[in-house]
Amino acid sequence: MIVKQIWTGNAYRNFNYLIACPETGEALAIDPLDHEKCLKAAKEAGWTITQIVNTHEHRDHTGGNEQMVRKTGAKILAHQDAGDRIAGMWRGLGAGDVVDVGKTVELEVLDTPGHTMSHVCLRSHTDQPALFCGDTLFNAGAGNCHNGGHPVELYKTFSEQLARLPDSTRIYPGHDYIENNLRFTLNREPDNQRAGEMLASVTGQDPDRPYVSTLAVEREINTFFRLTSPTVIAKLREAFPDLPENPDPRAVFLKLRELRNRW
Ligand SMILES: [Zn+2]
Repeated sequence: MIVKQIWTGNAYRNFNYLIACPETGEALAIDPLDHEKCLKAAKEAGWTITQIVNTHEHRDHTGGNEQMVRKTGAKILAHQDAGDRIAGMWRGLGAGDVVDVGKTVELEVLDTPGHTMSHVCLRSHTDQPALFCGDTLFNAGAGNCHNGGHPVELYKTFSEQLARLPDSTRIYPGHDYIENNLRFTLNREPDNQRAGEMLASVTGQDPDRPYVSTLAVEREINTFFRLTSPTVIAKLREAFPDLPENPDPRAVFLKLRELRNRW
């Protein structure tokens, strides 16, 4: 499996992805908003884009579909419930489905509600696994829930699916928000040394060559995986005095999501 991460350079800081089969040169485009950059990258690599996966229905993820289909004839795949919001959807995806790319790449579909209620992530079962997580999980952050999502569902997706993936899983999110998210981590957990070091190292990074984290790293720097950290809980209790001393992780997650919205 070859992964090409494409920085769009737009105001929303979107990342698009190409996933290619090294044997056949067939490629799948994830959320190819910047269809021109995606097509150029595919051409340079000698790949043919045959499929598009939209992680979810938001326009900054689907806005390149039409042009991409016109130029390549690629088929559009997305969550099975997104058909009324994604024009021209060819295949509806559900949990456990497999998306093949060429002869050698198999991607497993995870049904990951929360940012929207029809959001999928793709997971590779390569030697070093990878997760293409759209707007569900960001580097050091979590998706918002205010355009068709639900925070309780997002918590369930984190705790029941993402948190159980192997540590070595490489994380490929839909946006470059790492700097801002690390600042939120440090605001919530000022003694998080790893987050402090990482903020220094990614500040001003070239987004064409972005840092790629793993789930093990996210467990250290992403507040939304640090629901039992004593500092996170103590700081939250300053903001929410009603929160018990040993709160339920779900309550911690929901309060963090609420604070992040206002932050
Ligand atoms: Zn979105």
